[in-house]
Parts: sequence; C-alpha cells; structure tokens
Amino acid sequence: MVTEICKMTEENIDEAAIERAGRILRGGGLVAFPTETVYGLGGDALQSRSSEKIYAAKGRPSDNPLIVHVCDMKDVERIVKKIPDTARKLADAFWPGPLTMIMEKTDAVPKETTGGLDTVAIRMPENKIALALIRAAGGYIAAPSANTSGRPSPTLAEHVTEDMDGKVEMIIDGGAVGIGLESTIVDLTEEEPIILRPGYITQEMLTEALRRDVEVDRTILDANSGQAPKAPGMKYRHYAPKADLTVFAGDPEAVTEKIRACVREDKKNGRRVGIICTDETKAYYMEADEVESVGKRSDAKSIAHGLFAVLRDFDKRDVDVIYSEAFSRKGIGQAIMNRLLKAAGHHVIKVNTKEEGKTNDSDWK
Ligand code: AMP
Ligand code: MG
Repeated sequence: MVTEICKMTEENIDEAAIERAGRILRGGGLVAFPTETVYGLGGDALQSRSSEKIYAAKGRPSDNPLIVHVCDMKDVERIVKKIPDTARKLADAFWPGPLTMIMEKTDAVPKETTGGLDTVAIRMPENKIALALIRAAGGYIAAPSANTSGRPSPTLAEHVTEDMDGKVEMIIDGGAVGIGLESTIVDLTEEEPIILRPGYITQEMLTEALRRDVEVDRTILDANSGQAPKAPGMKYRHYAPKADLTVFAGDPEAVTEKIRACVREDKKNGRRVGIICTDETKAYYMEADEVESVGKRSDAKSIAHGLFAVLRDFDKRDVDVIYSEAFSRKGIGQAIMNRLLKAAGHHVIKVNTKEEGKTNDSDWK
C-alpha cells in the first residue's frame, strides 16, 4: 500500500484532503491524524473490520480496546446506553479536550472496537483537523496512538511515518502535537468515577469539576499489586526504548551525582551511555555519550511535550544503557512519571536510600 502524506495546519485545513480521508475511513480504510494529545491511527469505529485493521497495523493485542473519537455530544447518545450526569459535567468542563470517558455501550459499537468489553471509551478531541476528520468520516473514529504497539506514542508526523508507512492509506501531517501525552481516562461505569490512566486533565481538575473525590485505579499507583489494571492497555509493556532504561529518583543533587558516578563506571567498562535530563541539569552530564533534555524542570508541560520524542530518539542512537532523572509527580507529573516508569519497566534506583530494585509508582511522591 502506498501511504499518502497530506500536510495541513489547524488554521489552514485542506478541505479536499479531509474529504478524501473521510471517504477512506467510510470505506473501511485507515488514516493517521493529529490530535492535541498524540497522533491517532483512525478507522471507522462502527465497522468491525476497520478495528481489526487497526490492531493488525499496530501489532496490538486485540483485547486492548480502542478509544472512540466523536465531534458532537449528540453523537454520544447513539453509542452509549445512558449518559451519566458525571459524564455531562465532565464533558461541559473538559470537552473538546484530552479526557476519555468510559460508559456502557450500545450494540452500535462492535465488540472488535471495545476488545470484547460491554463498555466503550469516548473522547472529543480539541484539534480542529481531528474534529473535521471525524465529521467527514461520519461521526465515529476509533483511534489508538499511531505507533507500533510497545513503542513510544508519536508526537510528530515523522514518528507516524516511521511506524505506519505502507500500512495506512493516509497520514495527515499537522505538525507537532500540543500536549504530548495521551488523554486522561476516567471510568464512569461504577458508582465512583475512577481514573484508569493519568493524563493532562489531572486528579485535582476532575475532583474540582465534580465536587467529589476522584480516585486513581490502584493498579496504576502500585506496579506490584498483582491485580490486572481496569484499562486493559495499562498491563502491556509500553513506550520502551530499545536500550535498558533506569530511572533515578530522590533529591535532585544526589540524583545528578549518582548518575554521574554510574556513567564513569560504565565508561570504564566500555559501555555507551545515554542520559535523559532537563535543561537545568544537562551541563552536568558531559561525560556521557548522548545527553537529551526533555524540557524544563520548572515547566512540567514542557517535559510532557518532550518525553516521547526523546524516548523514540534514543532508538536511533547507539547506546547500551539509558539513565533518566525522575520528575515531580505533582499535577501532570503523575502522567509523566506513569509513562516514564512504564518505559523503564519500573526499574528505579532510589538515590536517598541507596536501595535498588523494582518499586511502586507511589513510593516517592
Ligand atoms: P491508546 O489508544 O493507545 O491511547 O490506549 C487506549 C487505552 O484506553 C488503553 O489503555 C485501553 O485499555 C483503554 N480503554 C479503551 N477502552 C476501554 C474500556 N472500555 N474500558 C477500559 N479501558 C479502556
Ligand atoms: Mg497507545
């Protein structure tokens, strides 16, 4: 298959290309497109064959359900049994935007789209290209992140091309995404709303909008809980670069010193070392072979924006090991550390306690 690449911006949407892309999707084909979170790999959510094609293109296990993207609240009624009051409140507060809500599905949504579940995950993205495409496709686009399963999510069209060239009919290149981490997922099918995946919309923001406590699924906070996560996708290895990645947590100065000591040791043993750090600390790692800053420690959003591109970039560099500083877990930091720890297979060195090994996300807030 030859993949057509169409460039456009939110301010200057190529209507003819959107029309073509809409026809591809209605005909059962696949189109990758930008959203404000990461690039999505889209197919018609109401055609089982399209969802099967998405799983095949990503190499994704078919028990890992897809998020259905809509462009109008009215369209939600057709695919869910009942819209809970909490969903209306959260939609008022955060849609269009980086929030996915899980509700009971109707028969309009095939089981192939929901990985066999009776519930469906729904999001209304804010990106104008995405909204135009959803409209052109007939209202419902199933779209996971447009990466090969297990690799970091794409934040540039070039990342999508690396993974999806020849596997999809079209890639819409809308430039760099705004946020850089996937949406927050909140389950509204139980009595209490519960966060299944942290994202840009934080626990504090949800709690404030609903005027009640919103908890985070325990399996996200505790890597060793032994329980299966409620969002099936969270159980899979994710975002991992090819080289071994270790995260160093603790007092920032001690972390820098410990990483530098490890670098010197590795160099003695002939290993090539990569470092993931921040603008504030980059200068400390001159002895390492490859040093990449994800953003500014003083600006968590810049770290969210840069993380996946840096993880992906390290696959092109010849390093044996990668060391990353840990980041603050406040606000969006919860999502940042969730993705970073998954990428590291939860391999963390806690510098203050000199204790090494697998750890819980919740250990060092
Ligand atoms: P991605 O499409 O790569 O952003 O991943 C979508 C995430 O949403 C995965 O972690 C899925 O397991 C989760 N998800 C989608 N639908 C449901 C659902 N009905 N119930 C629980 N989790 C879901
Ligand atoms: Mg994904």
